[in-house]
Amino acid sequence: MEGDKKATTLMCAVLAIDHTSISYRVCSACERPLPDIPSSPLCKFCNLNPSSSSSSKRLFRLLVSIATDKKVFTVICFDRAARVLFGCSADEFFDFAKFHPFSAGNAGKILEGEMFKMTLSKPKNGNAQHLRVASVIPLNSGFRPAIETLRELYRARVGS
Ligand SMILES: [Zn+2]
Repeated sequence: MEGDKKATTLMCAVLAIDHTSISYRVCSACERPLPDIPSSPLCKFCNLNPSSSSSSKRLFRLLVSIATDKKVFTVICFDRAARVLFGCSADEFFDFAKFHPFSAGNAGKILEGEMFKMTLSKPKNGNAQHLRVASVIPLNSGFRPAIETLRELYRARVGS
């Protein structure tokens, strides 16, 4: 990020994560977004074989409310940064959530209050509403990604 005047680095706490929509489907070849309907035709840019199971994948896209010492605002967190928070790929999380309802909401709760050092950048698209998270580093040395805590939580429930 050095030399990029459009980026700022700050310390913040996660207040909430909008868990209603945390990931979206993309073409696995070109990563362009695909309609979120399983039966829809696949990427019109690459014309991948629609019957190929590897022709789409999920990427994270999170809306996160954060608080600095000065203000509270919402940032958008794409796949690379979101993986730091979740500790897995969006596909892995999606599959986990199929068997464990409320995973997304619980992941948000797990991450609430965690402190991070975030680098935020202005969106390339001037119309975009939120600053995007370019990088995120946990400040708590004992930080564990949400999926680890979730796996433990659900394992404990099954065992009890
Ligand atoms: Zn494509």
